[in-house]
Amino acid sequence: MSEEIKTNVAPAAAAAARPERPARPFGKKRFESRRKVCKVCAEKIDNVDYKNFQFVKSFTMESGKILSRRITGTCAKHQRQITKAIKRDRNLAILPYSLPKK
Ligand SMILES: [Zn+2]
Repeated sequence: MSEEIKTNVAPAAAAAARPERPARPFGKKRFESRRKVCKVCAEKIDNVDYKNFQFVKSFTMESGKILSRRITGTCAKHQRQITKAIKRDRNLAILPYSLPKK
């Protein structure tokens, strides 16, 4: 049985064809994956308030753009509330719609 499974290439020749290489040339891991936590959940704020604009502002870019969930790690429920609060603040001229690039 074991004779049939053997490949037609000799083990020594196979080893020569594929020289020994380190499995990961850049160390064990390229980067440490860190768990993102929703900032709103972490601070135990049940409803994002547009009046708390300093907190809401932390979810915008310097240019005024709203940061994505992918970047901030906010949960879906709170991202919706943040988006609403930012848009409200923009309308009240508390937060900018956009700022020019330097
Ligand atoms: Zn959350």
